[in-house]
Amino acid sequence: MTNMLYRGRFAPSPTGPLHFGSLIAAISSYAQARKQNGTWLVRIEDVDQPRCDATSTKLILEALEIYGMQWDENIVYQSQRDHLYQTALDILKSKNLSYDCACSRKDINVNAEYNSNLIYPGTCKNGIKNNKQARSIRLHTNNEIINFNDKVQGYYSQNITKDVGDFIIKRADNLFAYQLAVVVDDEEQNITEVVRGSDMLDSTARQILLQQLLSYVTPQYMHIPLATTEDGNKLSKQNMAPPINIEDPRPTLISALTFLKQYPPTDLRDCNIETIWDWVINNWSIKAIPAKLSIPYNETND
Ligand code: GLU
Repeated sequence: MTNMLYRGRFAPSPTGPLHFGSLIAAISSYAQARKQNGTWLVRIEDVDQPRCDATSTKLILEALEIYGMQWDENIVYQSQRDHLYQTALDILKSKNLSYDCACSRKDINVNAEYNSNLIYPGTCKNGIKNNKQARSIRLHTNNEIINFNDKVQGYYSQNITKDVGDFIIKRADNLFAYQLAVVVDDEEQNITEVVRGSDMLDSTARQILLQQLLSYVTPQYMHIPLATTEDGNKLSKQNMAPPINIEDPRPTLISALTFLKQYPPTDLRDCNIETIWDWVINNWSIKAIPAKLSIPYNETND
């Protein structure tokens, strides 16, 4: 029986095929949803359209199927949901929680001498000066302190204004920002728990702030360690992430489970994919997942 309460999702950006790093996030969110008899959704995060392509979407979805992960509802595409993002933006505007900004990246760099993280100094907070043209729209933050307990990484706290600054919710190229899109989608799809890579941990406080300002429900969060190269770089297509095997998914699935410290028994690698998943769902333990932001991929061979 499906647990109507638990709703999880895997939300890849289709900028390349599924690689070992993104597979880890997919497996974790799938196992977590199936363990609770919950619903598992796939959302294609193609809001940043120039960086995304239909071939990657096709390859990602094929790989998920080959790896035995079935989604329960129709796939949602961010590129088709501007109307929802616009409604949320209108709400923020109507509450005076957003403002137009004329600053380019270069302006922020020049104005903030010691500001290596490009924290926005609030130049346009009280209106655009010198007849400059509006480029983007930012959220009006107010030193909110956001705390949350991540199920893997533990306690996390951020002062949005100080640590991030008023962040962009609609970009200069007229696209909605990822932070706004993901918050609207998680609410609209009634997601109860977000399981994703730890590279998103730092975005979570911004997302919770947006949820609070829009009176949305805040889901649980669980950030999985990233698989990195030996020198600590995130596995990606640029740095030769080992391609996942789509002829026979079993060895890569077992490596991913080993990476997640689920300790699959050695004879499992000879079983069929359904049997492997049965084992995973029965034995899935989030306590076993290391509370680390990243783990070199080689460690998985311990
Ligand atoms: N689309 C993001 C990615 O592919 C994931 C965002 C999320 O899961 O919230 O890295």
